[in-house]
Amino acid sequence: MSKRALLTGITGQDGAYLSQFLLSKGYEVFGVIRRSSHRGVEDHRLRWLGVADKVTLLDGDMGDLSSLVRIVKETQPDEIYNLAAQSFVASSWRQPIHTGNITAIGVTNMLEAMRAEKPDARFYQASSSEMFGLIQQDKQSEKTPFYPRSPYAVAKLYGHWITVNYRESFGFHASSGILFNHESPLRGIEFVTRKVTDGVARIKLGKAKELRLGNIDAKRDWGHARDYVQAMWMMLQQDKPDDYVVATGYTTTVRDMCRIAFEHAGLDMKKHVVIDPKFYRPAEVDVLLGDPAKAKEKLGWTAKTSLEDMIREMLEADLERVRVETGL
Ligand code: NDP
Ligand code: GDP
Repeated sequence: MSKRALLTGITGQDGAYLSQFLLSKGYEVFGVIRRSSHRGVEDHRLRWLGVADKVTLLDGDMGDLSSLVRIVKETQPDEIYNLAAQSFVASSWRQPIHTGNITAIGVTNMLEAMRAEKPDARFYQASSSEMFGLIQQDKQSEKTPFYPRSPYAVAKLYGHWITVNYRESFGFHASSGILFNHESPLRGIEFVTRKVTDGVARIKLGKAKELRLGNIDAKRDWGHARDYVQAMWMMLQQDKPDDYVVATGYTTTVRDMCRIAFEHAGLDMKKHVVIDPKFYRPAEVDVLLGDPAKAKEKLGWTAKTSLEDMIREMLEADLERVRVETGL
């Protein structure tokens, strides 16, 4: 019999790649989808990867415990991947309470649904490198103290610790993946890599002249979502639950990431990038650099896609999208 996986956040970037990966492993995949008046577009990422008609979507919301209990009862999953969140750092200052309700308390809702209906399921929590925030060590590992710098990161820290707590309190097979930034052609348009590749595509095709950005001196450890979802699955295949940093081990400035995109399009970024303080954040995470040694040793996982290859893939996809959208 095939294994059953339940994904929250299935309509997001990671949900789409993880669905594709689990289907390739023979899993039956179920996902939580929130009701929207825009019926028919929520699954665009799953459609982009050609897996929308291979997964089963069930109505629910991370803020509605009753819906999660019902879904776990109906689907009886072997593995639960909790990917749903208000995931955009900048929005978390504008919607701090919503971010807390979904990104923090939503985790407890999911764990409680599992405790009530399928306590022997294996649980994955999507934790974040943003929890390191004001970094306490040059290279961040599972042992590095946390120092969150946004309502998003504070909420993720709660989600991380409640996962550890349920593991220690109830013996749950609950693991937390501390994933560093990971991107793809399916990344939300508001995140800086995708904003850049979309912006460069528009400039290249004559649809825009400038790209407005905030702090381009910030540094991130960027990998590809397709590689990172495999680490999530690997964590749940271990005999014992644990926490793992998932990263490339390299860090790059937003400026250099941007330069890669412009150069690939044959453009000079100096002529197009405009710094707009509107995109500065009330508190910044200046630099993130992960140490993925434990994931390599225990899971046998390493990042495969270079930043250059990923940015090229994202830019090609955005060039195609802009061509289709504008009828070029
Ligand atoms: P996305 O923003 O692409 O996806 C978020 C998902 O959560 C969407 O499916 C969204 O649904 C869903 N969601 C949001 N609010 C609710 C709610 N109230 N009820 C039910 N579902 C909800 O994020 P990613 O795929 O990039 O990231 C996946 C997870 O990993 C997130 O928790 C994120 O915070 C975390 N993470 C991501 C990193 C990254 O670099 N990508 C790094 C570290 C952690 P809808 O489509 O309806 O909006
Ligand atoms: P984050 O690491 O989860 O906050 O991912 P983002 O892609 O949103 O941001 C990465 C870094 O890029 C942060 O340090 C931002 O301040 C910086 N950045 C600079 N300009 C922009 C911009 O225009 N949009 C976004 N989203 N980030 C920007």
